[in-house]
Amino acid sequence: MEFLPNFLQRITALMKILFFSAKPYDRTFFEQHNERYGFELEFLETHLGPHIVEAVQDQIAVCVFVNDKVNAEVIAVLAEKGVKIIALRCAGFNNVDLEAAREKGMRICRVPEYSPQAVAEHTVAMLLTLNRKTHKAYNRVREQNFALNGLMGFNLYGKTVGVIGTGKIGAAFCKIMKGFGCKVIAYDIAANAVLQANGIAYHDLETVLGSSDIISLHCPLNEHTHHMINAQTLQKMKKGVMLINTSRGGLINTPDVIDALKNKHVGYFGIDVYEQEEKLFFKDLSESIIEDDTIQRLMSFPNVLVTAHQGFFTEEALSEIAQVTLSSIDALAKGAEPDNKSVILV
Ligand code: NAD
Repeated sequence: MEFLPNFLQRITALMKILFFSAKPYDRTFFEQHNERYGFELEFLETHLGPHIVEAVQDQIAVCVFVNDKVNAEVIAVLAEKGVKIIALRCAGFNNVDLEAAREKGMRICRVPEYSPQAVAEHTVAMLLTLNRKTHKAYNRVREQNFALNGLMGFNLYGKTVGVIGTGKIGAAFCKIMKGFGCKVIAYDIAANAVLQANGIAYHDLETVLGSSDIISLHCPLNEHTHHMINAQTLQKMKKGVMLINTSRGGLINTPDVIDALKNKHVGYFGIDVYEQEEKLFFKDLSESIIEDDTIQRLMSFPNVLVTAHQGFFTEEALSEIAQVTLSSIDALAKGAEPDNKSVILV
């Protein structure tokens, strides 16, 4: 009977998951959904990166988020420590070296679609805030200032909205903007036939940039899209354009946008993502000195809105993220494949 405790111990050791960049809300939703699975969950607030990877012990899986660095060096140590699964509790995977993971025989899963509406709706919230200045109105009336000077917006009805990347989030955004009575045009490397049937016309990138009053980015960050918004592409846009990015910070060359804001070529700029966000976002730095002069300059413009990567942050999305992540780890840990094939990256 000696084998039994050892066997049970091995099973328990196999079922530990270590979370990086964990916040109280991650713990809430994962603990709730874990009642079905019974994994041992451990939560660390720190990012995963070379500095912390040695902390991994006995875990079959690590669970990471958008700003965790999962490069070849980190993957090598994780593999050495016996980690078999890297679970991304997000859709984007530009922060993971998939090839290095494949070489080490590691499995990687993600949550490809937890709530496209959550991000699409946040994009619309940013667009409306920048346009109708509700953030300013909110503060103004609280100081008993009921004047309207400086709050003037424009009708969305009839305006042209250019959508770059019409996957799950881009498509949801297109539908909302059609509802406002906008003319919606799009650029994507692969057209979506359902959107086309609903009156959304695809054009080349230059045409979309040059014809749109509002441009919203919804394509992934990769070697083709890195800094796709730069001095040259900004020049192709209409003067006074509104540019929104809720996809990934690296799509935009931020200093070039700052120049375009200074010379008023860009009229409004809204970002939920920022290329150097990992040192800032998801943290309360209200008592700190911010070293990043670029974000400080950005936030000094009255026509710039920055939110700290909160597009995904709805109850429905967090619940779906926890459920899909745990069920994928459960299947992979048992040597099975998850029912939804698109969760698997490697
Ligand atoms: P998706 O894979 O469904 O859609 C991406 C679309 O981009 C696809 O239609 C694809 O063909 C297109 N595309 C790929 N390369 C392109 C290129 N070079 N030019 C133009 N289009 C290109 O992804 P999704 O679920 O819609 O998510 C889009 C992005 O949103 C993700 O990559 C992720 O980075 C970001 N995201 C942000 C948040 C947030 O909280 N702000 C949350 C989830 C996802």
